[in-house]
Amino acid sequence: MARSVFIFNTHDLPHRAGEMREYQLSLPVSEAIGVDLLSIKPTQVISVELRITSVDEGVLATGEITALATGECGRCLDPINWPIDEAFTELFYYETAASRAMEKGKKGGKNFAKRDEKKDVDLEADELTFMIGDEIDLELPIRDAVILNLPVNPLCSEECPGLCQGCGEKWINLPADHAHNPEDPRWAALKGLNL
Ligand SMILES: [Zn+2]
Ligand SMILES: [Zn+2]
Repeated sequence: MARSVFIFNTHDLPHRAGEMREYQLSLPVSEAIGVDLLSIKPTQVISVELRITSVDEGVLATGEITALATGECGRCLDPINWPIDEAFTELFYYETAASRAMEKGKKGGKNFAKRDEKKDVDLEADELTFMIGDEIDLELPIRDAVILNLPVNPLCSEECPGLCQGCGEKWINLPADHAHNPEDPRWAALKGLNL
């Protein structure tokens, strides 16, 4: 499998608290990121202004994300462009910090019940994000920031009147007295088309 574009190597950042580096990343999307009606499509690029800072426990990553999500209006199905401008902050712990946390979880000694031990480790793993060597995986923080920025029910405009349920035409293109009944000749004509 191809290496994820979201994995960033921090080897240029000295392991000394307070050291900081900044990068401009362009990450090509290989799999849509977003919600059903609106997403950053494959071939699009996510731009990230990334700042990584050395802290005692690991690397603090902050990023400004800009990207373009595309999709459809939930009412009239017109195409929508949705510019994304979001920020994220994530602390990635050094692996050594990870093993220390594990040790702490085992501090109860050898008689520590196996079940409890597992619970402690799961808890740590849930709460903390760890580095793998010098690498940090930005996929989750970026994905979360993007999805939080997207409306579940996107509209081309708040006032979008949507489609006529009778014929699927946009209300915006229909006269105010537009209606459907069996005598409507346009309706009859449509029926004749056997749609
Ligand atoms: Zn619309
Ligand atoms: Zn209609």
